[in-house]
Amino acid sequence: MTTTIDLSGKIALVTGAGRGIGREIALTLAAAGAAVAVNDFAGEETCLAVVAEIEALGVRAICAMGDVGDEASVAAMVEKVETELGPLAIVVNNAGITRDNVVMLMSPDDFDGVVRTHLRGTFLVSKAVARKMLRRREGSIINISSVVGRRGNAGQANYAAAKAGIIGLTKSLAKELGARTIRVNAVAPGYIDTAMTQELSDDVRKAIVDATPLRAIGQPSDVANAVLFLASPLSRYITGCTLPVDGGLGI
Ligand code: NDP
Repeated sequence: MTTTIDLSGKIALVTGAGRGIGREIALTLAAAGAAVAVNDFAGEETCLAVVAEIEALGVRAICAMGDVGDEASVAAMVEKVETELGPLAIVVNNAGITRDNVVMLMSPDDFDGVVRTHLRGTFLVSKAVARKMLRRREGSIINISSVVGRRGNAGQANYAAAKAGIIGLTKSLAKELGARTIRVNAVAPGYIDTAMTQELSDDVRKAIVDATPLRAIGQPSDVANAVLFLASPLSRYITGCTLPVDGGLGI
């Protein structure tokens, strides 16, 4: 019996991987041997820097710029990845934005924008790869949700709705694709130390740590390791689940 995770020969796409959690996921999958397509929206330089870091590990990588909320952009991105790297076996829907406000002050544009990137983006990328994976009877799709999608959060109704939607999308897709051994799972991080959370005040950070049973803010590697497990054959009998990576905050 072996428990080593070896993804050599597998091709992975990670959206929003120029920085933060996505970057860490891309590096972690590459360290396990997968060739990785690094998607980002605006930051081509950061995307290329992640590609260089991956290549330094001795595996193939490409930068696949594109807007996950735009159907044509997603189609072009997936085509580029499969042409340049090969058939996708692992897809991580990680790209995301926040536009926080209480509902009474939230503009419809800020609601739509967040839902567009997270929920529509996850739908479009999953749709673009689903038929290809079905034909090959191989694939693991991992969607990044959030503890906020499970519990809601004042000031983040748009984000919470999108992240809750991702959980429903994950379960539905798992049911649609399971018969051909395509697995679809979600990861629900708690508060993770990235640019997205670095704007929080010290008081808010302390309140989060106090409410977290493990009494700490998580690191991008905590999420990346969960994604690695769900991408690997170690989780071959797991689909449709939402794995919390939140130090117990969601209990
Ligand atoms: P960051 O803000 O650090 O990074 C987000 C990434 O998504 C960036 O690379 C950004 O690209 C990219 N992106 C944004 N919009 C698009 C788009 N339309 N198309 C393609 N890429 C896009 O976020 P985190 O690393 O903190 O978060 C990553 C994921 O984890 C998100 O889904 C987030 O909601 C989720 N999450 C984060 C938590 C946290 O505490 N940090 C907690 C729970 C969930 P660019 O640089 O070009 O803007």
